[in-house]
Amino acid sequence: MLRLYDTRRRAIHPVRAPGRAVTMYVCGVTPYDTTHLGHARTFLTFDLLARILEATGHPVRYVQNVTDIDESILQRAARDNVGWRELGKREERAYLADMKRLRWRRPDVICHATQELPAMFTLVRALERRGAAYTLPRGVYFPVAAQPRYGELSGLSAAAMKRILVGQDDAKLEDPGRRDPRDFALWRFVDDGPTWPSPWGRGRPGWHLECSSMIRHHLGDQIDIHGGGADLIYPHHENEIAQSETASRKRPFSRTWAHVGAMRLGGKKMSKSDGNMVFVRDALNVTDPRALRLYLLDRHYRKPFDHDEASLDRARLRAAALGDALGRGRSGAVGRAGPAREALSALEDDLNVVRALKIVEWAAPRAEAAERAELRTVARIVGVI
Ligand SMILES: [Zn+2]
Repeated sequence: MLRLYDTRRRAIHPVRAPGRAVTMYVCGVTPYDTTHLGHARTFLTFDLLARILEATGHPVRYVQNVTDIDESILQRAARDNVGWRELGKREERAYLADMKRLRWRRPDVICHATQELPAMFTLVRALERRGAAYTLPRGVYFPVAAQPRYGELSGLSAAAMKRILVGQDDAKLEDPGRRDPRDFALWRFVDDGPTWPSPWGRGRPGWHLECSSMIRHHLGDQIDIHGGGADLIYPHHENEIAQSETASRKRPFSRTWAHVGAMRLGGKKMSKSDGNMVFVRDALNVTDPRALRLYLLDRHYRKPFDHDEASLDRARLRAAALGDALGRGRSGAVGRAGPAREALSALEDDLNVVRALKIVEWAAPRAEAAERAELRTVARIVGVI
């Protein structure tokens, strides 16, 4: 049984979904720029998680969003003098092509913010019925005072939250008259750029509302695993919990919160906004997809990852050596004992890929044919042969 670290409970717990599929939602991309190694590491972590569950007899229903309307898309489209829809569609196609080359276990549903407005309105109406929405000149807001456990996920003090909010892109769009500076927009009234009609007036949806609504629409009020980059813990995931649990009165919204550590370059987080990125397609010019998977997954997912060209090069040699040692034959069912079982158990232990690969690499050259077939199964779950 897969065991995962839950950010909310701050401990490792088993993922249980008896008699049904494990439901998983991962926050996806805002498609205005090319897929970088940070995205790939995050999405491959959840790809691996789904592959482990499926390989061990647990079906998975995996949903991921595309934030196809956002201030950053509009700004980039204006800068490059292209339509925002055209930019978003082009970048989404490029991102899906990059992930396909990485042999991504594609989500069962890829949903788009612009297609989910009715689900968003339903959620805001539910919040209104709970007295958990109020309107100001620039938007409809969620009052964080409505959620007594607000801050439970991040463990941040109100002062620390306020410091983070000041640096957010949309800070200047907020009404200064909010009841609490941490109150966040469910719906924004804006007069420039694309807008949609809503029961509250024309505007654009708040970012946090999108994920809560899509989860409710595609997976229900409660899910098993919610994933994303660690930078999403506050404010995004904290706010998702506040909206969803206030609307449904069911707790927990997600049984497990899984967060992937930052990808860094030169000691700084790789990010579109800072422009210090290594793109997946450039990495694939100097290495192959299996080696890039090995490179990105061979570090515990919760730790930060410092990109380094020499290690990327070594990963190419390691993947080639592993492929040679394991050969191209069939996969064998993993037995109750032996190195393949130990390696699979390491994967099930909060995705300990580092240990699993060490075991496979040690055992492969020594293995008999049947054992090699079992080891191939584990290497194929990780996607490195
Ligand atoms: Zn999200």
